[in-house]
Amino acid sequence: MLVSLDGAYNRPGLLEVKMGTPLRTVIDEMGGGTRYPVKAFQIGGPLGGLVPASRIGDLTLDFESFAREGFLLGHAGVVSIPDDFPVIKLIEHLFEFTRKESCGKCFPCRLGSARGHELVSGAVEHGEIIDRQLFDDLLEAMELGSLCALGSGLPLPVRNALQYFDDELKDYFISTKEPQ
Ligand code: SF4
Repeated sequence: MLVSLDGAYNRPGLLEVKMGTPLRTVIDEMGGGTRYPVKAFQIGGPLGGLVPASRIGDLTLDFESFAREGFLLGHAGVVSIPDDFPVIKLIEHLFEFTRKESCGKCFPCRLGSARGHELVSGAVEHGEIIDRQLFDDLLEAMELGSLCALGSGLPLPVRNALQYFDDELKDYFISTKEPQ
């Protein structure tokens, strides 16, 4: 499989890698490791999964391994997220990308990406707090209701971010869910 490593690597570029190769081998040996600390890798395209550095050792370069662990191999492009880059800014970028790329044919993607971008931008730019239940509902509506992989693909990296970077993100959200 062709794997592209971004400029964070000591040996960036396009590699041909045998399927099933441990991801750690790809990153640390074939890519020569990163030039600065990296906390996560977005693998599989602009809406690929967000793999935290702590999970690299659990993955091999094949579709099944990524799917089993809750990620997406996709086209195997690897974009590195530096330690000092805020995850909330990455989420904002993902919504902005989807909003701009949306063709507008279906409303979960057309409106969902715009509303998601408003919510996250409000938090980033103006310190607004995001209703976590509303945000989760938005992701679910986009995932289930979008007609193609653009709108339905956005929730995966956002959920990965919420799962693995909860400590960093929790101050941006408030849970309004009624206790059961
Ligand atoms: S999900 Fe696909 S079809 Fe629907 S608006 Fe987005 S790009 Fe268009």
